[in-house]
Amino acid sequence: DPQLNPEYTFDNFIEGDCNRLARSASEAVAKNPGKTAFNPLFLYGKSGLGKTHLGQAIGIEVKKEYPEKTVLYVSANKFTTQYTDSVARNSANDFMHFYQMIDVLIIDDIQELAGKEGTQNTFFHIFNHLHQSGKQLILTSDKPPVALKGMKERLLSRFKWGLPADLQSPDFETRVEILKNKIYKDGIIVSDEIVRYIASHITDNVRELEGALISLLAMSTLNKAEITFDIAKSVVDRLVSQPHREITVDQIQQKVCEFYGLDINVLQSKTRKREIVQARQVAMFFSKNLTNSSLSAIGAVIGRRDHATVLHACKAVKNLQETNTEFKHQLKEIESMIRQ
Ligand code: ADP
Ligand code: MG
Repeated sequence: DPQLNPEYTFDNFIEGDCNRLARSASEAVAKNPGKTAFNPLFLYGKSGLGKTHLGQAIGIEVKKEYPEKTVLYVSANKFTTQYTDSVARNSANDFMHFYQMIDVLIIDDIQELAGKEGTQNTFFHIFNHLHQSGKQLILTSDKPPVALKGMKERLLSRFKWGLPADLQSPDFETRVEILKNKIYKDGIIVSDEIVRYIASHITDNVRELEGALISLLAMSTLNKAEITFDIAKSVVDRLVSQPHREITVDQIQQKVCEFYGLDINVLQSKTRKREIVQARQVAMFFSKNLTNSSLSAIGAVIGRRDHATVLHACKAVKNLQETNTEFKHQLKEIESMIRQ
């Protein structure tokens, strides 16, 4: 199918905390299109986090499982152009009928319909027809339904019927996995040290992660050299907008203490007081995520703890931020202090 990129499969979509719900809902939809509660499935998130990839993965999977079903992937812009052309050619009804025949309709970047009333109205009718006939709709957007502007209320309310599932920036481990998967597929040789370097410096966008690998490959081909750490470092440093500064465990301790109003000696002491334990765990968590230090090296610096304690700390912080939004905000603030 020319509309679907064969690379954008579920197999090639690395799972992490950042995308677990969106990914599993997408798989559920692909296995039973039109028959799950996720209709429409509304995938949203910032650019470069995998919305198009997941949308297409559904299309590819449905085609495989149900060859008889009609699957259409279309960008909202292309949909708009097709609609406008059909109006100009007096064939808006044909346009509508064509879309009403589809079993699984994937519309990418639905936010692009903002302000386009005619297109929205037509889409509204298509949506209703498909939904009532038990057909599956998958929509992607850069914002959740509640934040979409310039969209008719009756459309927005339908977007909220199914499941809005967000894609977030991948954490360090997921970034490493994404890079490794890509390296493996491309058959190139890149050391783990380099992978970790890229993953620790290019942090908020999968497209940029891939871009770094592509530049790296180009660079080594150009120089007819293998990909050394120095080459990787120069490529990555040029890609990240701010001049690179290595974050150290010491700096992390300082910033965490500054944030909590603690003395470093207290942080490193053996005290089991709750708020100090938490600050210590936060320092360990960021040390693991923002530096290349090993768990035992981190433990050695932060109060002579062993690697199991650091590992436990990282898990505790990760769990707490999932259930406690205030804590999650605090972490964001601390992270930005560390990165400054
Ligand atoms: P969006 O549509 O959200 O802007 P894309 O789906 O185009 O993002 O993703 C950008 C690139 O990153 C694509 O090449 C895609 O394959 C890749 N990508 C995104 N998320 C993942 C993931 N979880 N695993 C593997 N590759 C990913
Ligand atoms: Mg996209």
